[in-house]
Amino acid sequence: MNPEHRASAYAAAAKEFNARTGRDNGRSAAEKLDQRLVLLQDLLYSRLHGDVQQAVGMDSMLMPISELKTQLAAKTDISLYQIAESRAAVVELGARATADDWYSRWLARLLLGEPIDADTLARLDEYGSKSPRERMLAFTDVLARVLPESRRAPLVLFNLFPISVWIATAIAWGDRVRAAEFRKKQLDLQPALGDCTVCRGQLLATGKQCRQCGNPVWKYDWLVAD
Ligand SMILES: [Zn+2]
Repeated sequence: MNPEHRASAYAAAAKEFNARTGRDNGRSAAEKLDQRLVLLQDLLYSRLHGDVQQAVGMDSMLMPISELKTQLAAKTDISLYQIAESRAAVVELGARATADDWYSRWLARLLLGEPIDADTLARLDEYGSKSPRERMLAFTDVLARVLPESRRAPLVLFNLFPISVWIATAIAWGDRVRAAEFRKKQLDLQPALGDCTVCRGQLLATGKQCRQCGNPVWKYDWLVAD
């Protein structure tokens, strides 16, 4: 999306969000969700595929077509999983998300653009019928077809990732208390994340990442540290 498209997508998303929820923070919710979830996508993709990306360079103009195709397919898969997890988080936050499942469609339009095709809706429905663990396993299976090297990632990466989506969702919906609770869950799963001398495992501002440990999608050496 170019900046002009993005601004009009945010405006449309904000309007619908406010109408559906009776709140007035739709603009901030749309911006924060988009920026935080896209950052999580980029970080997860580079954790799983970073060696190849480093070899060909970060400049998309120089990337071979096959590399761009892989990236697009992987990021679409990650988006769908994020939408499913964000929806689950919104239900957990006690907000109105389920009535006619507007939220999944709303977030799909924001992350994937219009129109949402039947295949996307079917995949979202499938995620919606699963437990959190089943969703994670389905996601890792789908991703391994596009990025076989993702099979080599430490399992804890995939246990932490959906919680990072829940944090992004809680912050976008204005619930920092629950966001902090979700971060504590991540620290319980991998206590070493709290040892980073730069970010100390704290929640970061929208668009920020910790260069030292990788927070909010941690580098491998932090995931396997005692
Ligand atoms: Zn850090």
